Amino acid sequence: MRKFIHIDMDCFYAAVEMRDNPKYRNVPLAIGGSKDRRGVISTCNYQARKYGVRSAMPTSQALKLCPNLTLAPGRMEVYKEVSKQIRQIFTRYTNKVEPLSLDEAYLDVTDCELYSGSATLIAQDIRRAIFSETQLTASAGVAPCKFVAKIASDENKPNGICIITPEQLDDFVLGLPLGKIPGVGKVTLGKLNSIELYTCKDVRAYPFNDLITRFGKFGNTIWDRSHGRDFRSLEIERKRKSVGVERTLPEDIYSDEDCYKMVELLYPKLKERLQLVSPQLLIQSQGIKLKFNDFQQTTVEHKFHTLSKAYFFDLLRDGLSRTAGRGIRLVGLHVGLIGSEQNKQLTLPFSG
Ligand SMILES: [Mg+2]
Repeated sequence: MRKFIHIDMDCFYAAVEMRDNPKYRNVPLAIGGSKDRRGVISTCNYQARKYGVRSAMPTSQALKLCPNLTLAPGRMEVYKEVSKQIRQIFTRYTNKVEPLSLDEAYLDVTDCELYSGSATLIAQDIRRAIFSETQLTASAGVAPCKFVAKIASDENKPNGICIITPEQLDDFVLGLPLGKIPGVGKVTLGKLNSIELYTCKDVRAYPFNDLITRFGKFGNTIWDRSHGRDFRSLEIERKRKSVGVERTLPEDIYSDEDCYKMVELLYPKLKERLQLVSPQLLIQSQGIKLKFNDFQQTTVEHKFHTLSKAYFFDLLRDGLSRTAGRGIRLVGLHVGLIGSEQNKQLTLPFSG
């Protein structure tokens, strides 16, 4: 039996600001989000959430919901530093760690011998260590597979833990609303709901073939998850060959301009993610993925060793020439990383 822990820091950026700055402690607080029209909030504390403020919400909307909202600019360098500290804590328990972002990671503790191999006690000890060393709280999910661990870490937030044992797995999954399955965004959820599918239980009663017809390959994932199946193992950093970010759009887009805007939006996120995995930016290719509203997708990828937004725009232009009038439902950017073999070659000193 495999044992996974998903650790998720509680409103991470906001929590760091509240820790370091007393004036932020008892007010509704949001990080990021300049006040101009295009600003978007990156995270907020629980006081702000009471007013309905959420991550990725336009600042203007957040201020309407919560006029007293305090906006803090965000200190990415500090967050990265804390993130390193947390990752260092993880490695005391296992080297099988897959970071998903600065404040979130999967751990595979199947082979961890601490606490007689009790994943629950390991997770509690990790949360305790994080709090005593960073004064920040984390929530944990413990489960026999990745996606359930991730859903579980959200169950008792903040500063909570949720354990789903192999015996509880089936019952837990059965009642899950489909929107909780990682990868099921608003658009997919809308389509599932439109055919009366709301929970994993509903999916189990639905004909598999119809699911595939409607959702393509992702239909298979929905089917598996609805049965509590997730065979993925961790993507360990040293084995990672590419890094990407993608976004399913709330509505299909038809204009080139909107696509360029998406690239503009995703590019800093890709950069952030890449910096975690390959701080020296050792990349060997850049690529763009477009998924159309008929669920076909296209990828344009070229060899390129320097990370460049302008180059993504070039790739996008190629991609857009393939739309054939279809709307675009997802835009993704990715880069291929230089493998360890080539890595060595690059660092070989000149002889003679
Ligand atoms: Mg978090």
